[in-house]
Amino acid sequence: MTGDPFASTLERTFARLRDQDLWRRRERRQSPQGPSVQVDGRTLLSFASNDYLGLANDPRLVEAWCQGARRYGVGAGASHLLGGHSEAHHELEEALAAFVGTPRALLFSTGYMANLALVATLCPRRGRLFEDRRNHASLIDAARLAQADRHRYRDVAGLKRALAAAAPGGVVASDGVFSMDGDTADVPGLLALAQAHRAGLLLDEAHAFGVVGPQGRGTPAAHGLGHDPALVHMGTLGKAFGVFGAFVAASTDVIEALVQTARPYIYTTALPPALAVCAKASLAIAVAEEYRRTELGERIREFRAGAAQLGLQVLPSSTPIQPVILGDAGRALDASARLREHGLHVPAVRPPTVPAGSARLRITLSAAHTRDDVEHLLGALAALPPGSA
Ligand code: PMP
Repeated sequence: MTGDPFASTLERTFARLRDQDLWRRRERRQSPQGPSVQVDGRTLLSFASNDYLGLANDPRLVEAWCQGARRYGVGAGASHLLGGHSEAHHELEEALAAFVGTPRALLFSTGYMANLALVATLCPRRGRLFEDRRNHASLIDAARLAQADRHRYRDVAGLKRALAAAAPGGVVASDGVFSMDGDTADVPGLLALAQAHRAGLLLDEAHAFGVVGPQGRGTPAAHGLGHDPALVHMGTLGKAFGVFGAFVAASTDVIEALVQTARPYIYTTALPPALAVCAKASLAIAVAEEYRRTELGERIREFRAGAAQLGLQVLPSSTPIQPVILGDAGRALDASARLREHGLHVPAVRPPTVPAGSARLRITLSAAHTRDDVEHLLGALAALPPGSA
């Protein structure tokens, strides 16, 4: 008898996750993203997606994708360096570089892979990496994989101390907008410290591009900062731009180093060119349609004003990510289930995605939400039993 070689290990894992209320379930959405979604057969008002500008189901983008597919087919067929790179990829890279204001940009299949590539390339041979404790999992994993000499800081003062104790050079890495807390990094402060230390600054702008700064050009642009060779921007195309994929925008040398050496760039199939056609159209819409950021800003203000009146524990975030902290994983799950009874889709986020004791409802707002949608959400939050939120 051979038996199941994985059973005992996996059962221990399963038992631990269930005991700690950390078991995760995938639900099946049967509709496009949008304020109203069909999930497991029910129509729900969703505050769960990163489609901040309401572009993921824009008919113009669906059409752009179809046109791209008619021209290029559905798959890239190879990696970028071995025949997969197309005119569509190239044009999108040029548009992204112009959007961010850097000499060049480079496409990646996912933001996760872009971060792996960046840290391996910028921190080779146990290079020094100073990173915010709240950085996205992909930056944390990137440092582990690159075996970077890593220091995690809590705030700018902590970074300053760590840099003062280290030899010049290295890389500072931070989310521009923190994905689970929604607040924005002190980019001018980080950049000044990095420059004084002759270090680079790697900014993960996954939740910033399209949303933060003039025309959604990101957190440095929000502070009036132009291109700086010390600054490397990582962005995704699957959040505010509503599509899929990611990119790095940086100096020519950084981009060329990624092309020449980054394994997550070299050893993977290029994104479908049709997707690149679609993402280029999305970028143009995101830049041009300022009213989307205006609407989104209104929804954020309405939600925060209502949450303050209800006495909810929100965080100091001015972005579409508006978490309500509940503490216990079980409480967060319970609150999410109760909101479901009011026809709302609001996910509970638990450790290890957030620190132990800070499980939360991760509410995300979109330009496609209406004032009534926000009122519906606030009404349901108000109806949670005392102690639930
Ligand atoms: N960085 C941050 C801050 C993110 O939130 C995410 C996505 N959750 C990523 C990187 C990874 O991007 P992608 O989904 O394209 O892999």
